[in-house]
Amino acid sequence: MITVTDGAGLIEQEQRHLAHNYHPLPVVISSADGAWVTDVDGRRYLDCLAAYSAVNFGHRHPVIIDAAVRQLGRVTLTSRAFHTDQLGPFADRLAALCRKEMVLPMNTGAEAVESGIKVARKWGHDVRGIAEPEIIVAGGNFHGRTITVISFSDDPEARTGFGPYTPGFTVVPYGDADAVAAAITERTVAILVEPIQGEAGVIIPPADYLPRLRELCDRNRMLLICDEIQSGLGRTGATFASDHVGVVPDLYLLGKALGGGVVPVSAVVGDAEVLGVLQPGQHGSTFGGNPLAAAVGSAVVGLLETGEFQQRAAELGVRLHDRLRALIGSGVTAVRCAGLWAGIDIDPAIGTGRQLGERLLARGVLVKDTHGSTIRIAPPLVITEAELDFAVDQLAGALAE
Ligand SMILES: *Cc1c(COP(=O)(O)O)cnc(C)c1O
Repeated sequence: MITVTDGAGLIEQEQRHLAHNYHPLPVVISSADGAWVTDVDGRRYLDCLAAYSAVNFGHRHPVIIDAAVRQLGRVTLTSRAFHTDQLGPFADRLAALCRKEMVLPMNTGAEAVESGIKVARKWGHDVRGIAEPEIIVAGGNFHGRTITVISFSDDPEARTGFGPYTPGFTVVPYGDADAVAAAITERTVAILVEPIQGEAGVIIPPADYLPRLRELCDRNRMLLICDEIQSGLGRTGATFASDHVGVVPDLYLLGKALGGGVVPVSAVVGDAEVLGVLQPGQHGSTFGGNPLAAAVGSAVVGLLETGEFQQRAAELGVRLHDRLRALIGSGVTAVRCAGLWAGIDIDPAIGTGRQLGERLLARGVLVKDTHGSTIRIAPPLVITEAELDFAVDQLAGALAE
């Protein structure tokens, strides 16, 4: 082992020893607090990615860190072979937040998606008596990176070369309820959808899309599964993005911010008539629902119970949207905004999303590009109005460079 402490050396070390499945911006972070991160040379950057919404409450939120530290001094992992004093309270609190009866705790988002698919298929077998259940999904989806999940991705980069693929999925265009209706067969047991597509570039469907999917599910005895892993837990100005259109899915898939930026915590949340299909031995996870995760998850739900973060995202989101819309025509071709979450299409004449990200890095703002010409802004919800203005000012400056 060689000891390296300088930024360039650390980047080179990563490139030498890590699989090349990421292409990070050239910044080496060594500490963080609230909406800000600091690199190894002491330079500060405003974090406008928030780990893809896993850090909704800001870096090292004191309430979350306090819960984690207290639990680190007690017990961190037992497996589900035994009960703990943390898991019941966490499940109770999370179920109440979702106005549902049952929680299936997992770790990563992709595991929550896989678990939701397993539950829907089991429900299809046991309750509807379907031997080969099918699930309808949306084009442009992002639900994670496992084999089954990329089997129904239509992104060639995510999918090509990883076959054979898991069957049982039908892909129809996002935002098109008629296409969903036309794709339903007697074997369809569920519709799996992001209420707003994050990785696709913050794509907001027509307002009647989710309500119509809800109706189709009710009429055809199918489950509506909403992947709120990125859109949920305050990001859009409500607890769930589906709240904005008054839709309650049969299953919520949660992750990212549920772990408070500390540990991976994900969950499938639903009522007993659906999640109740799982019996002992049929599904599980060694780390799922561990006491550290449960303590952190409880603290996160506690923060959401106040409504304070949802309100901040709603209020600051209006300002963000207004200020970004003013950039249309000045290097920006389109803006899509939901709370403190924005997809910004950059005029290709100005540069790629990646190039804009590099210019913003030099200006002290961290963002991530997606699909070539789009950048996404998703700051921690603790960001102040002045900090948000700073981010948009720097974006305007980077576009004018
Ligand atoms: C990030 C994400 C996932 C996958 O979560 P991981 O924790 O990276 O496995 C699934 N669905 C959506 C909508 C996401 O944004």
